[in-house]
Amino acid sequence: MNPPPSDAEDRRAVAPVICYPVETLPAPDMALLDRARGTLTKTGEVVVPPRDAATFTVPAGHFFRISSVEGSQVGDLNLWNANDLSERFYSGKTRALHGTHITRGQRMWSSFSAMRAMATITHDSLEWYGMDEFGGSVHDVIGTRCDPYTHNLLSGGQYHYCCHSNLTRALADHLGVPLAEAEPHVHDVLNVFMCTGFTRDTGQYFMKASPVRVGDSLEFFAEIDLLGALSACPGGDCSTVHSSDQAQCYPLLVETFAPDAAVMGDWQGPPLNGYDRSHGV
Ligand SMILES: [Zn+2]
Repeated sequence: MNPPPSDAEDRRAVAPVICYPVETLPAPDMALLDRARGTLTKTGEVVVPPRDAATFTVPAGHFFRISSVEGSQVGDLNLWNANDLSERFYSGKTRALHGTHITRGQRMWSSFSAMRAMATITHDSLEWYGMDEFGGSVHDVIGTRCDPYTHNLLSGGQYHYCCHSNLTRALADHLGVPLAEAEPHVHDVLNVFMCTGFTRDTGQYFMKASPVRVGDSLEFFAEIDLLGALSACPGGDCSTVHSSDQAQCYPLLVETFAPDAAVMGDWQGPPLNGYDRSHGV
């Protein structure tokens, strides 16, 4: 290793600055959304089987809620613009804006060049968890999704029920296209109910048993027309292993709701990003 310079401690002592202060980020009208939550009518539901995935659609201005129904289980969530699959959830930018984990009042942002709010979290029954002594928190945007490729590199095995494969099968079924056509649309997820962080000493991604219990839920407001896919991760509560059939797994429930139109008034979803896309030319 190169020896440290004489001013190494001075360089380390420089205070950090937040990359993206969010005071000017378009903010949700939480007062409106809270009023709307009081008027919800259920419009549908889908049960996501363990070690499998399911799709659902949510019109702009409606809500969806993911719930633990039989046991502690984490879910891997993909979102797309239902009318244009090239606009999809951008985990990395959501992380850059909101931090490693997201909760009530924060948003899931979409990919370039649309880059706008896709969904706003309106209720999180695990908001109380905060950040634990290990630096762990719930609902992360730092993991990717468990997948058979990483599993193969690490173990040499063939496992077909990782979240990546579950999401691929569910999307292919929904679109009526071959798996190879659906797979490139699958993207880094919001890890619903998953408790994760980075180890302080080595900076490695860790997971620990999710604090989710039956009855817990995470609820979203759809800012645009959404196609969603949710996988009930083969890691179960992610307390030990994933990418195998070893962990105890449970289903997840996704419900959709419509608010009273009178409460929503003249609400409109966010426009496409305002950058002119000329890139200096
Ligand atoms: Zn998974």
